[in-house]
Formats: sequence, structure tokens, C-alpha cells
Amino acid sequence: MMIPYGRQSISEADIAEVSNSLRSNWLTTGPLVNRFEEEFAKRVGAKHAVAVCNATAALHLAMMVANIGPGDRVVTSPNTFLASANCAAMVGAIPDFADIDPVSYNLCPESLRGNWQADTKAVIAVHYAGQTADMPAIAAVARERGAIVIEDACHGVGGSFEHEGKNWKIGGHPWADMSTFSFHPVKTMTTGEGGMLVTDNDDYATKARMLRTHGMVRQPDEFVGIGDDHFEEKGPWYYEMQELGYNFRITDFQCALGLSQLKRLDTFLQRRREMVSRYNEAFKETEYLQTPKLRNPNDRDLTSWHLYTVLIDFAAIGCTRTEFIKRLVEKGVGSQVLYIPVHLQPWYQRQYGYAISKCPIAEDYYARTLSLPLYPEMTDQDCEQVIAGIRDILSSVAKTKEKNE
Ligand SMILES: *Cc1c(COP(=O)(O)O)cnc(C)c1O
Repeated sequence: MMIPYGRQSISEADIAEVSNSLRSNWLTTGPLVNRFEEEFAKRVGAKHAVAVCNATAALHLAMMVANIGPGDRVVTSPNTFLASANCAAMVGAIPDFADIDPVSYNLCPESLRGNWQADTKAVIAVHYAGQTADMPAIAAVARERGAIVIEDACHGVGGSFEHEGKNWKIGGHPWADMSTFSFHPVKTMTTGEGGMLVTDNDDYATKARMLRTHGMVRQPDEFVGIGDDHFEEKGPWYYEMQELGYNFRITDFQCALGLSQLKRLDTFLQRRREMVSRYNEAFKETEYLQTPKLRNPNDRDLTSWHLYTVLIDFAAIGCTRTEFIKRLVEKGVGSQVLYIPVHLQPWYQRQYGYAISKCPIAEDYYARTLSLPLYPEMTDQDCEQVIAGIRDILSSVAKTKEKNE
């Protein structure tokens, strides 16, 4: 059996909760959506949580509620999934990129400052692999220049970080105006498809709820525009469309799964941390392979590890990454390459004229990166199989190399 690079964990309790919700009166927009939002907000330390159909929708809503649009620029990390940048294009703004730092592989505050342009209205920091971007430094650069800060926390659910002697939760610290989370099956907790937008800002939350469902307002207390007295005069059926919105809703049975997974989140994080330590220890002094480094060593037990990514010097070992991945597959080990720098995608090159060497550190990172299997149901034995597989390949290519030299 092949060990995949990531996989969901679904328990009998998860299945029971979903079954129960299917037997209830509500399939969508019912009480479980509200409960999931409340429990999630509590867990990440935010005032509001708005559940949506996926994190791409959450990012899109973040752009909309902050009034980002044509004429605005949004800067994010190139070392991320497409959605972190696409959301800016979806509202007619220009997605742009600053380079990553060579330790955490996250958006670099100095590069952000150095490449700042006057039309930049938002910065989207991404917590690659679960390690947090330097939020206080990023927020300082952005806010001094009048831009808002969004954290794309799709990799970091349940994680926290240390800053000046205090621990801060991802989604619950003062250096982001909004945070987004994904519940896709490869992420750390899942609802099948699903996402969450969290914020402490009352206006953002109200507007996000409205735009999640066609910009419709039904009850006076949801109303964000003009006076609301006329609602009761009109009658109980009455609703108004105040903005052009979308259908970004999530179902109750997905939220049933989300609530059940949320209860298991700490166990997931614990198991992922154990496995990361095991990998780190095993690969500590491995030639041609570099284990993940922490920007802040105090974050070791706070990080919500989504990926375990190593850097391999494929050029030096004389083995292409494609060949390396093939040999891993022969040993029953899956792997993944995350990420192709977003600015190098054909659409981005065509649309915005971005080209190679715009973000050299991210491009170099892409040339060497390989994500190894990491998920809570991996056994210690699975982990050893991955470690042995990597060691085997590295020592056999090293031998071939010696022979040829
Ligand atoms: C998965 C992911 C997304 C998109 O999440 P969906 O729920 O699939 O829309 C966005 N950003 C990052 C960093 C991701 O990993």
C-alpha cells in the first residue's frame, strides 16, 4: 500500500455526527452552521467566524468586505496555493508578490517593504506548512502604509506563535484584520469542502454573512445599510438585496463533520508534531537534505504542522526530482511538490507580465522542495518506511556519483 503525502482522518464519531445531522430538519443554513462558527471562533480566539463553502470563497469575501477592487494592488507570497493570489484578481485588483525569507519560506517583511507600491491596499500573509509568517513585522509594514492585513491560515489551523514572551493564536492575534481557513481533505481538519473567515471586526463579519448569500438581508438585525424600520411594515416575507453577492454557503452536514473534527484537532496537532520531530531527528545530519527550520525556535510546540517539507539538492546528487519521486513511489512512498511560485503560472505571466527572477528565493525553493507524507493516521512504522526510503535513495545516488567521479 502506498503512503500518500496527506490524508484525512474520519472516525466513527465523525460519521455518527454527520448521520445525525442528515436525520434532522436542516440540510443547510441551519443550527449546525451557527454552532460550528461559534465553536471555531472560540477555538481560534476570534470574535466572529463566518463558515463558507471553501477557503477560496473566504479569501474572495475578505477582498469584498475590505472594498478591494480595480485600481488596488494586493501583495502575497509566491510560495502558496493559487487561491491566495487569485482572490485579488477575482475582485479586479492586481495580485502581486514579494519574495519569501530563506528560513521560514514565508512572505519576507523586508521584501514587502522594499517592493512597496503606492496602490497596495492589502497584504495576504500565508503560513506555509503551518509555520507562521512574521505577522507583527508584516503588519507594521502594511499598516504604516495604510494597507490591511489578511492571514491565509489554510495551513495553520489550531496553531499559535510566540511574540515578545506571549503566545498568540493564529486567527486570534492583533496583527491580522481577517484570517481564512480551509477544510479541504488534505488540510489538518476537514468538512469535505469548506472554509472559514474569522475577524474581530463587526462590519466585516456582517458584510461577509450578507455576501455569502447573494447580498440578501432578511432581518433588521442583519441590516448594514440605511434605517431598518421599513422591514416590519413590508411583512414577514420581505427581503432586500443590498449588494451583489454569491452563494458561498456551507451545508449543515458539513458543519456536523467540522464540529466533530474540531474536537479532535488537538489530537491531530499532537500527532503531527510527534511525526515532525521523528523526521527531524532522523534526517538531522543527512547530506544533500535540509529539514524545515523554524524562524522562532520557541514555536516548536505551538506550530500546527500541515506539511513536512524537505529541501533536496537534486542538482548536486545528479538525480532529477522526477526520478527521485519515481524511486520513492517504488518504495511505497508518496510525495508532493509545493509550491510552483504563483507568479510563474502562465496566466500570471500573460496577464501581469511577471517573469522568472521576480522572486528568486521562492524560485530556488521550488527547485529543491519535496513534501513527505504527514497525516495523523500515519503509524510510526509508516514514518520509518518514509525515512528508510529517502535514506536508501540518497545513499544509492551518492554511490553512483562517487563511481562516476
Ligand atoms: C488549500 C488552500 C487554499 C484554498 O482552500 P480551498 O478550501 O480548497 O478553497 C488557499 N490557500 C492555501 C494556502 C491553501 O493551502
